[in-house]
Amino acid sequence: MISLPGAPHLAYTQNRLTLDGMDLQALGAQYGTPLYVYSAAAMRTAAQAYLQALQGRPHLLCYAMKANSNLAVLQLFARMGLGFDIVSGGELQRVLAAGGQAAKVVFSGVGKTRAEMVLALHSGVRCFNVESEAELRVLSEVASRENLPARVSLRVNPDVDARTHPYISTGLKGNKFGVAHDRALALYAQARTLPGLQVVGIDCHIGSQITETDPYLDALDRVLDLVEAVEAQGTSIHHLDLGGGLGITYTDEQPPSAQALVGAMLQRIDARGHGHREIFLEPGRSLVGNAGVLLTEALYLKPAQADELAQGGRHFCIVDAAMNDLMRPALYEAWMGIVECVRHPADTVASQTWDVVGPVCESGDWLGRERPLAVRAGDTLAVLSAGAYGMTMASNYNTRGRAAEVMIDAGSVHLVRERETPAQLFAGERLIR
Ligand SMILES: *Cc1c(COP(=O)(O)O)cnc(C)c1O
Repeated sequence: MISLPGAPHLAYTQNRLTLDGMDLQALGAQYGTPLYVYSAAAMRTAAQAYLQALQGRPHLLCYAMKANSNLAVLQLFARMGLGFDIVSGGELQRVLAAGGQAAKVVFSGVGKTRAEMVLALHSGVRCFNVESEAELRVLSEVASRENLPARVSLRVNPDVDARTHPYISTGLKGNKFGVAHDRALALYAQARTLPGLQVVGIDCHIGSQITETDPYLDALDRVLDLVEAVEAQGTSIHHLDLGGGLGITYTDEQPPSAQALVGAMLQRIDARGHGHREIFLEPGRSLVGNAGVLLTEALYLKPAQADELAQGGRHFCIVDAAMNDLMRPALYEAWMGIVECVRHPADTVASQTWDVVGPVCESGDWLGRERPLAVRAGDTLAVLSAGAYGMTMASNYNTRGRAAEVMIDAGSVHLVRERETPAQLFAGERLIR
């Protein structure tokens, strides 16, 4: 048995790739491709690491569900007692449909609508993470009108560099997220006087796919400075929401473990005399990313001829998954591992360097470039670490139905989302009479 880096639940057994012991080529054949496959055990293990680190102190672990919002994934985390970090009313409805509790939900996002605020207030969410003065005023107005108090934290922008991709860095001054650190004190004073609001905490989230501990500690220090200033002003802060963003291993990244990161943050919190506060965390990617793969069939091989190669031609492996199924490579130029589900004996299929591309009519439609693969048409490939920001970012571009999703749990395979049909795609459209 050979294990793959960053993916302890994946292994080759007699040259066949398995996830929790299930043969992936066989799953692809049974359910069709493209197919997302998740390991429930891997998700539980990831959540358990955070829960263990938080043991013995008041906490709320909120899964940032935009990473993967399949109902079965939410159900799994709800059953472990997790709450959810949501960024839309639609996500709140998913939480409720999956059996999650609104009382464990924090509502983040820069553009909450009045309708979403009403829904969240009536559902009884735990906290609104407010991101601007304008939003604070509207929330006050809506909460007063509905006669339901809104519990609020301000999301502060600590102005630290998370040293990650610019599209997923959120804690710098130039980002649209949060309230500037030097404005936060005045805004807390305002929140205290506005009707309908109850200040309960403070929030920050500095980015995603963060692989170092230092940016977290820098942000934490800035947040604690602010908490001390806010409390000196007479507003008490109950909880500290320290966001999410811990990275995973796609290739050779070595992020700290959840235990190490949370341990370091708690140590700093205690050292500064804030150990009594309830701790909220909002991890997304690190709970689900390495628990999933995307299976895809190699449709056609289109190798470059020798004369084309000399002029910059490339060998293309055209697969049935595309940028609409998995957007990270096209959007962020993200590198995701791609491996064969069945390894051919070396003397039958030679390994070659392929650009793995999808059928969508865009040159940006690629899943991986210059990948050594021993592949034949009809083979199944697995894109690794696809459990986060895969299916949730999928679109219907080129009128492609979204993929099916299956979850492996305790030796059984569950279809947790059916493949979308073309008829479903245009069911809401109308011809003009
Ligand atoms: C996306 C997001 C998260 C989770 O980020 P990950 O990198 O997936 O852990 C947490 N909090 C907020 C406010 C977010 O927008």
